[in-house]
Amino acid sequence: MSTVHPISLYNTLSRSVETVTPVDGSQTIRMYSCGPTVYNVAHIGNMRAFVAADVLQRVLRTVGGYEVRWVMNITDIDDKTIRDSSETSDCWLPAMGSRAGDAHGDLRTFTAYWMQEFLHDIQTLGIRQDHLAALPRATDYIQPMQQLVVDIFNAGYAYVSQGSVYFNVGAYAQQHAYGRLYTIDREHFREGVRIDADEYDRESVSDFVLWKAQKDGEPAWDLHIDGQVLPGRPGWHLECSAMSHELLSPFPIDIHTGGVDLRFPHHEDELAQCCAGYHVPDQSHFWVHNEFLEVDGRKMSKSLGNYYTLRDLLDKGFDPLDIRFALLSAHYRTVLNFTFEGVRAAAAARRRVQEYIWDLVDRTDGYEVVDADAPNPLQEVFQELANDVHTPKALAALHTFINVHPVEEMDEHEAARVLYAFGLLNSVVAVWTAQPRPEIEIPDDVLDLADARWEARLAKNWAEADRLRDALAALGWHMKDGKDGYDILPLEPGT
Ligand code: AMP
Ligand code: ZN
Repeated sequence: MSTVHPISLYNTLSRSVETVTPVDGSQTIRMYSCGPTVYNVAHIGNMRAFVAADVLQRVLRTVGGYEVRWVMNITDIDDKTIRDSSETSDCWLPAMGSRAGDAHGDLRTFTAYWMQEFLHDIQTLGIRQDHLAALPRATDYIQPMQQLVVDIFNAGYAYVSQGSVYFNVGAYAQQHAYGRLYTIDREHFREGVRIDADEYDRESVSDFVLWKAQKDGEPAWDLHIDGQVLPGRPGWHLECSAMSHELLSPFPIDIHTGGVDLRFPHHEDELAQCCAGYHVPDQSHFWVHNEFLEVDGRKMSKSLGNYYTLRDLLDKGFDPLDIRFALLSAHYRTVLNFTFEGVRAAAAARRRVQEYIWDLVDRTDGYEVVDADAPNPLQEVFQELANDVHTPKALAALHTFINVHPVEEMDEHEAARVLYAFGLLNSVVAVWTAQPRPEIEIPDDVLDLADARWEARLAKNWAEADRLRDALAALGWHMKDGKDGYDILPLEPGT
């Protein structure tokens, strides 16, 4: 059964939808995702970025028919990891196993802890580690980062000032386009102004730091450049340029992903560094950016304090797969407003599909078809996924399919064919199971209440039926009424 379709994808670089074909003519897509900064627990807004990248790479595999070499970096050295690992050292780090007073050791230990938390969270959200070819930690790639600083310097696009090395945006912009991913107003160029912070606003395009001079007590490595030794550490943008080159070169790679906030300065500067230091016209062919998860119209973020972590939501009783499904309910390029109600709606929608899959499993009763030429019954669903990973349209097409094709009307062979297609779909969406329906033990008092409510309904005693419905809900159950009978089901989590 073929699912292969040409994949189209919006490219921030060209501002248009283009067809994906591997740049090197092989069958492998090389994809780099800017990963987390591991100084704290990631929030569910960050998770939108990683789930979006995951679904994209799954679409490329299952719908595009490609191999994918997917790399996601771990930023374990930047302003925030340094700040928090030094602040944490007294109370937390001994418990994490660090030796006191060792800046390198503290940083590695501190960030290793948050990296493990991150890996656990993404796994809980259905991101498979075996889909990732590498999860490079920045501090393991200091040497190639230093080499890139030297190469940029030798090409004439960097200078040393007070122990740091800066990228000379003015000199670069005379030879290359700057502002390819994010249109920059010329009047915002501030020639000769230097910025040390890893993150800066869009209103001030200035020389950004490639190599930061060591401050007291900070971890540092020696950079040999221009006859000097500069103890310091890499800037954030530099890290991704060097790691993507180390693990995925030659440039351009096929796809580079991140949230829209990374377009500028992070991705613009990554791109400029690569062009300047590696002498290539492009770092990546596609640049793919997901929109924000918002809360009441504002980006979910640590600094605004309007965030939920995965743990917060699990503690409220939500199922992680419902959270994944909720994140897929909007197209990755539109803003998604986060609400508990939205996750509950996703839970109900996911459950409807799961019930259908269980009906198919019951209907086929172990019967399997493996017919390579059979038409794919979910053709339209796959088509929508191939169309710029349009998950909401794909899910709408899926619900239409379910409504139009009741399992009761299928024979064993037909049910097996449909079940097979659902399995392929689930290798992209990854929220359902084809294991047989779990047996649910329903307590006697719940059975009695349900029986009484059914009788009350038949007698059209609506007030009594409602009272019994509430009594069932208080025990964590609800009834799904049919024409001739009912099912008793546990209430969805989070309700
Ligand atoms: P950080 O660890 O802050 O570098 O962020 C990791 C990823 O999460 C980046 O790709 C960000 O663009 C992305 N991100 C951060 N906040 C949000 C949000 N509210 N919605 C969607 N993506 C986000
Ligand atoms: Zn990056």
